[in-house]
Amino acid sequence: MAYVLITGASRGIGRAIAIEVARQGMTPVIHFREREAEAGEVLKEASRLLSEHSGKEPPRLLQFDISDRARAKAVLEEDIGRFGAYYGVVCNAGICCDAPFPGLEDDAWDSVITTNLGGFYNLLKPVVMPMIQRRKPGRIVTLSSIAGITGNRGQVNYAASKAGIIGATKSLALELAKRNITVNCVAPGIIETDMTHEVPEEIKRLIPMQRFGKAEEVAAVVGFLLSEGASYVTGQVISVNGGMV
Ligand code: NDP
Repeated sequence: MAYVLITGASRGIGRAIAIEVARQGMTPVIHFREREAEAGEVLKEASRLLSEHSGKEPPRLLQFDISDRARAKAVLEEDIGRFGAYYGVVCNAGICCDAPFPGLEDDAWDSVITTNLGGFYNLLKPVVMPMIQRRKPGRIVTLSSIAGITGNRGQVNYAASKAGIIGATKSLALELAKRNITVNCVAPGIIETDMTHEVPEEIKRLIPMQRFGKAEEVAAVVGFLLSEGASYVTGQVISVNGGMV
């Protein structure tokens, strides 16, 4: 069975990825932290889309905080024990907590690094070995950000976490290449979600396409990286940002 676990799939980009996964006929495992009702809506929509494909396992929900290593491990091991190893994993859940560096609180540094970069480890450590033991092709996709490539004012903590994800992704890609498990990173620009609702409209002038992106436009690229067609793409960082450099 092609199960694809997507973290932070209750809303925003993760929600769009879960829908895209179901649209392609793979079974999304819909992870969330707090928003159970929203995650339930995603589950309903994914079930509807999967029912158009025959013989597919139904989607399911998983709840844990990705910064909580022990709980993440326990939930993931239990899920894998019941349903088997995942074909794909999308490390999407993330937070930002912006402030100019002199005013950055200790908590804002710690929570962003622990959630975004720590989340990479907490999620992938329990799932990678079962993926290897599955002895079939697999897919891992991580979410970085343009901030992790170019840096951004007021986002020293966030950019550090997202640059770290790029290094971790490329290294894991090298380790898993021989196993036919690809590991790639998608780096969005400014995408219309809850995370960016305070970004001023004037910023659009700095984007060659003069608009913010949509979650579905990121999900389409992640969907490609999860597909069979992306079997020879690994260790890459793909920007989805309307042409920003
Ligand atoms: P949203 O804020 O819209 O959604 C965040 C999701 O992550 C939610 O599903 C939330 O779950 C989950 N989440 C947050 N913290 C935790 C945690 N500690 N444990 C488990 N789940 C958690 O974010 P976006 O959709 O905008 O962003 C998705 C990813 O894309 C992030 O990694 C972000 O950094 C990256 N990105 C986004 C950009 C943008 O412009 N939007 C630009 C570049 C990168 P719940 O709601 O259930 O608590």
